[in-house]
Amino acid sequence: MCPRTVVNTTQLSKRYGHVQALRGVSLAVQQGEIFGLLGPNGAGKSTLIRILVGLVRPTAGQAWVLGHRVGSSAARRNGVVGAIVEQPAFYRYLSGRRNLQLLADLSGGCNPHDIDRALEIVGLTERQHQRVAAYSAGMRQRLGLAQALLPAPELLILDEPASGLDPRGLVEVRTLLHQLTREEGVTVFLSSHLLHEVEQLCTHVGIIVAGRLVAQGSVAELLSVPQIHLELRTDDPARTAEILRDYDGVSDVEHINEVVRLTCAPGEVAEINVALIANNIAVSALMPHRETLEELYLRLTGESEDAGR
Ligand code: ATP
Repeated sequence: MCPRTVVNTTQLSKRYGHVQALRGVSLAVQQGEIFGLLGPNGAGKSTLIRILVGLVRPTAGQAWVLGHRVGSSAARRNGVVGAIVEQPAFYRYLSGRRNLQLLADLSGGCNPHDIDRALEIVGLTERQHQRVAAYSAGMRQRLGLAQALLPAPELLILDEPASGLDPRGLVEVRTLLHQLTREEGVTVFLSSHLLHEVEQLCTHVGIIVAGRLVAQGSVAELLSVPQIHLELRTDDPARTAEILRDYDGVSDVEHINEVVRLTCAPGEVAEINVALIANNIAVSALMPHRETLEELYLRLTGESEDAGR
């Protein structure tokens, strides 16, 4: 069965006065993905999220969520979307459960079983009657997620869900989001500027810089680059570099002290080894280095910022 497109934008742009916050962003998120919108401060992440939840109107382009155009009456009627766009605000002197009940009442009420279910999913059943003042930041964030989960959403939209969390809180939220996608079939669209977090949490990533989407795809796809960097240690680095400079498919050969560095296709590594042995060079170490998401991010954001100026 083909996966369903849950979020889709085409040429989405947003201008606030003189500030062009989004420039022609087209992206697609499929059912079951945990999609991370990654970008530096001011890149346009919150603006995109606010458009998706209907809080901001785009200047140009269109956005669809769960098959309905954002802003249309059908989207308002049918949108089973849970969202946390700002830090959830709770009454600290009331219990977690009472807070959920009050928030649900504001949007038309809900069945007590829905509250039981949401509390159970986020692991707060046992602490539900405690005052929110006694909750840790991670627990408050989970209570926020419980609120977003009350309508049993198909799609969860979260603006910076990791912000303000300590490492333990991060792990709690990460585990919960994985569980939601796996067990409840929820699709997650979140924004973050924490690369490490996105790398561990998300199945798919979009990188946004100065309002432009500069890359999107699965984490594996984005990192499957055709070229790798290779570091070699041999008994004769000078000759190694000389031989490899003339070798087809090898470029950027550098010889620094005992180490030779170069760029080549992943499939060339074994042949380089054979070629050196054939030239009576003993290879003691051969270390391929693939680009990490962090390096990709820095490369893309660095280039785009320069290009945008
Ligand atoms: P951060 O990670 O810092 O939250 P962001 O990637 O979420 O940043 P946005 O908040 O979407 O970025 O902002 C994109 C640009 O639009 C920024 O230059 C910001 O100053 C500007 N901006 C956002 N909201 C408004 C607004 N209501 N009025 C004017 N400018 C705005």
